[in-house]
Amino acid sequence: MNYENTRQTVLEAILEAVEKGLINGTSGNICMRTPEDPTICCITPSGISYTGMTAEDIAVVKMHEDGKNEWIEGNFKPSSELPMHTAVLRNRPEVNATVHTHSMYATICAMGENPELRPITPPQCEFTPVGIVSFTMPGSDEVADKVKNTLGDKGLVCLIKNHGMFSCGKSMKQAMHATIYTEEMAQTTVIAKTLGTYEPMSSEAEKAMQDLIAADQAV
Ligand SMILES: [Zn+2]
Repeated sequence: MNYENTRQTVLEAILEAVEKGLINGTSGNICMRTPEDPTICCITPSGISYTGMTAEDIAVVKMHEDGKNEWIEGNFKPSSELPMHTAVLRNRPEVNATVHTHSMYATICAMGENPELRPITPPQCEFTPVGIVSFTMPGSDEVADKVKNTLGDKGLVCLIKNHGMFSCGKSMKQAMHATIYTEEMAQTTVIAKTLGTYEPMSSEAEKAMQDLIAADQAV
């Protein structure tokens, strides 16, 4: 089997996401660029239950220079939401992993007139600011463009209205952390707002925390 390590990493990540309740049924998808070839990525397949899945079921996709994606290996065709993942991988050479979920609290926070997600605890500051993408049909090139543009050159997470969230990272570990901490941020936000005690970190504290995180990463 080609690209076995990357396919195994994608498989383990999707099973972790299912176990953590970030993904239900066949919603959500995870993608990773291969270290062997930066124009090849491995993504969870379309419409297949993740429980019982094997690394051979993970689809392998060639990202051609003309913008086309070609399914080149794997037992099942790639997720229909592939364009969103490859748009970000093409635009951000340092990004190697992308995670998309319909996790409940992030989806709740992606609604309303002016959706906004602010950090509640210091570790969440690594992944803010969280962008917002307006609703667009799933799987379309249009939503792929919007996610790519909203993340820009540096963003790690965005919410997609009436749909879910999208995270990315230089490694699968970082992309999964972005997803887990964003869902945590959303859950604590929803509960605190319900209790009437919502008080996110100040922008100053958020910035100071981000400087600390950046300094740690620079070592
Ligand atoms: Zn989706």
